[in-house]
Amino acid sequence: MAKVQTDRREFIKYSTLGVLGLVLAGGVGISPYLLGEEMRLRPPGAVDEKEFLGLCIKCGQCLQVCPYHSIELADWGKGHGVGTPFIDATTRGCWACKGVPCVLACPTGALAHDCEKPEDIHMGVAVLASPSSCLAMSNTPIPEGFNTKMHRFTQGVTNVTQNELEILEKLDSFAGKPCTLCADMCPIPNPMSAIAMVPDKDGGRRPEIYEGCIGCGACEEVCPTATPAIIIKPRATYASIYGKGTSL
Ligand code: SF4
Ligand code: SF4
Ligand code: SF4
Repeated sequence: MAKVQTDRREFIKYSTLGVLGLVLAGGVGISPYLLGEEMRLRPPGAVDEKEFLGLCIKCGQCLQVCPYHSIELADWGKGHGVGTPFIDATTRGCWACKGVPCVLACPTGALAHDCEKPEDIHMGVAVLASPSSCLAMSNTPIPEGFNTKMHRFTQGVTNVTQNELEILEKLDSFAGKPCTLCADMCPIPNPMSAIAMVPDKDGGRRPEIYEGCIGCGACEEVCPTATPAIIIKPRATYASIYGKGTSL
């Protein structure tokens, strides 16, 4: 089914859920246990998780304006926060739009309006979770067909945007080359402040993460390994992961 139709159906479904959520909100508390167990990657500007769950009215405005189709609304099977927006970076990360339109669209402040540009985004921090599968570390070229996942995302979609087509065009040029995808596709204005490929002790190269990382998840999306070697720790600070530098 065309994605635009799917979006409309999802929007209606979750708007209804939003009303139900408001009715229930007064009587149903959010278990700290649940929050700890399942921390999702929230859209840019999301306030503290507990506050976010209280402020978000599940209207879907943020996902309606996202030109990369990055934002989804949580379904019944996703645990707490049914109907709230999140980003599954393995499928589609945030591409750090200039002007951060998702934040501008939020009517309640669940996405705080002081997040005005990519450098203001602090969604989490990238981590090389599976060094053993990183192609760069083993000097393995990027295989042909690595971009099938990203192309599949736009198949059957009637409202593919120019932004998405530009990503695909850039991605396609990497096939057969040494893997630098996570560093070269990092979308923030100064990607070298967030990530760089550095020599590794075994002769390969590896991505190194720096304090400028905003946790957008674009690197996780484009990582060509079966399970992304690089992933985002939602809401983590650079200092909390790497034990140095300043807090985000
Ligand atoms: S910054 Fe852009 S790509 Fe990222 S979630 Fe917001 S609208 Fe989507
Ligand atoms: S995208 Fe980055 S983490 Fe993934 S295989 Fe390539 S160099 Fe390694
Ligand atoms: S390294 Fe770049 S692409 Fe990856 S999460 Fe950080 S800012 Fe986003």
